[in-house]
Amino acid sequence: MDTQDRILKLRKTIELNAYKYYVEDNPILEDYEYDALFRELKELEEKNPHLITPDSPTQRVGGISKKFDQVAHKNRLYSLDNSNNSDELKAWYNRVLKDVGEVDNTQLGLFSNNFCDIELVAELKIDGLAVSLTYEKGIFVQGLTRGDGVVGEDITNNLKTIKAIPLKLFEEIDVEVRGEIYMPITSFEKLNENQIKNNQKTFANPRNAAAGSIRQLDPKITASRDLSIFIYAANFDKTAKIMSHTDAMDKCRALGFKTNNYRKCKNINEVIAFCDEMSEYRKTLNWATDGVVIKVNSIPKQNELGFTSRAPKWATAFKFPPEEVWSELLDVEFSIGRTGIVTPVAILKPVNLSGSVVSRASMYNFDEINRLEITLGDEVLIKKAAEIIPKVVKARKSDNSKPLNLPTHCPSCGTKFIEIEGEVGIYCPNKATCPAQIKGRLEYFVSKSAMDIDGFGDSIIEKLIEKEYVLKASDIYKLTYEQLLTIELIKDKSANNLLNAIEQSKKVTLSKFINALGIRFVGKESSDILAQSYKDINALKVANYDDLAALEGIGVKMAASIVEYFSNPENIDMIDEMIALGVKITNRYTNADVLRLKGQSFVITGTLETLSRDVAQSKLKELGAKTPSSVSKNTTYVVIGENPGSKATKARELGVKILNEKELLEIINGD
Ligand code: NAD
Repeated sequence: MDTQDRILKLRKTIELNAYKYYVEDNPILEDYEYDALFRELKELEEKNPHLITPDSPTQRVGGISKKFDQVAHKNRLYSLDNSNNSDELKAWYNRVLKDVGEVDNTQLGLFSNNFCDIELVAELKIDGLAVSLTYEKGIFVQGLTRGDGVVGEDITNNLKTIKAIPLKLFEEIDVEVRGEIYMPITSFEKLNENQIKNNQKTFANPRNAAAGSIRQLDPKITASRDLSIFIYAANFDKTAKIMSHTDAMDKCRALGFKTNNYRKCKNINEVIAFCDEMSEYRKTLNWATDGVVIKVNSIPKQNELGFTSRAPKWATAFKFPPEEVWSELLDVEFSIGRTGIVTPVAILKPVNLSGSVVSRASMYNFDEINRLEITLGDEVLIKKAAEIIPKVVKARKSDNSKPLNLPTHCPSCGTKFIEIEGEVGIYCPNKATCPAQIKGRLEYFVSKSAMDIDGFGDSIIEKLIEKEYVLKASDIYKLTYEQLLTIELIKDKSANNLLNAIEQSKKVTLSKFINALGIRFVGKESSDILAQSYKDINALKVANYDDLAALEGIGVKMAASIVEYFSNPENIDMIDEMIALGVKITNRYTNADVLRLKGQSFVITGTLETLSRDVAQSKLKELGAKTPSSVSKNTTYVVIGENPGSKATKARELGVKILNEKELLEIINGD
């Protein structure tokens, strides 16, 4: 296909999908699929400017339906150009510096030179629906959708039902503000549950739900949906003397608008750091964000930079890498875990997901394969889950699809699989000699949160099992230098390093030791709870079921598993053997002061300066405190960092005691 044909084909596909998305609120493509087509078209047009036509999607903004009255915008609304990675952000910044004459061509690339830096503002990009709100003498008079940027749909009555939109401002002022209507994620989930109950179509994501709810002909329906807004731009008249974007946002906040938090950045490197920080932070929010918007702060400089036909040159949107992506299912491996559980693992055609290349994804269990109706060769949707390994969430048939036979016997030891009553999974029952299970247990035993022995790679463990030097954890403490040298991957130096690491691991806390045993259902956190409640391993060995089950965070399933583990003489022998071989288990919790924050709970909101939020939380947990993610009247303290979220307001409403970072540090340090 020649370039012109490809351009025409791309335009047609993009137009059709833009219509489905903007007008019908019913997209067929995933956003990143649409973005890839759009980007291809833009690149082809940039290389062949003579083929650009005014009606190309790259020259236009959005779309408009005939459902509502159409009204011309007083000031045009634009879209945003995208930057997908730090190189593209730097290239955008370079163009900005060049265009405002802060740097000449020969200086391009000198980002650290303060002389040529320009102040930027970075803020989260809300994934919702753009609207423009007009106020006259402080009264809300008209609300329009973005439409095609020139003309919008009049949805004033629907917008009036949204509580976060003030009908009257704190000042009698004329202003036009722009913002993004969104639906909180929890409300979106509830709405979909109700739609299912009422046999109605569900919404693909919170953005569609917000767009579908705001563009209802009956405002009562809009009023019944939980919608909110963040204001992200404003046009004040000249007398307001607004000189920067942040001035405008501060003024909006003072007028009674709900604005998003922003961070001023001295240069693009600070922006890149902010984007990195936000890519994790956003997961804690109850609203969808698809990126970070970066703007030149100074309004005179914005005016100097101006606009392209569809977007401002003084702003760009950094898009977070997709958290979901389609790939082809090449094969399915059945992996046997340390407890014998069988996990089907999808072997995929490698794809980029959330910034990393993924070629394997979990499919949990056989039921899940049946539920998703997965067959080999299908196209499968992969999602980054909270766990490190991504999971398969959807499948669609392709021309290559062929049946997938589920195995009945363990691929590692040949034993017939069994089902355990009351559990979803399928198991290999051969605990004692199944090589895959032994390997899983040993890998877990040496891992960081357990005995933390460095140098035991996957293949070394495999070889040690093959040679039968190590079949259970205590064998690790009997390994000799000579044995290690018989393994081809190990030379003199690495043998000594490994023996040293084994020696060092002998000094271990009770909590890590319990975790290392790999008792079914007992992980890092529960091991810590057990260490707080039992003074040493001997006390845990004889712990009774009722006492265990009564511990907060343990429960009946874990209690039964712990009792079962310690009633097996082989496990007791193994522990005793380790102790005889020099493993010294200490319990820091026997010192009463260690758990001095027990019974208290701390919620942290905003960015902390000296500690990252994760580090602060784990220090608090070590001291016995809880660190829940939401504020309730039972919360002991809410710690407020820079740019706090709504939790700060909630704390004030509920009268929960508020701490600043300095006070938090004093508590942690026991000052
Ligand atoms: P956009 O969403 O990428 O960016 C522009 C919009 O961002 C602005 O109009 C504004 O409403 C919004 N925004 C949110 N927070 C902001 C902030 N803090 N400051 C400034 N603006 C902010 O561009 P677009 O033109 O609205 O739409 C393109 C998006 O729509 C892409 O993500 C694309 O994937 C998606 N889309 C998908 C399909 C599909 O078929 N799946 C079709 C069309 C468009």
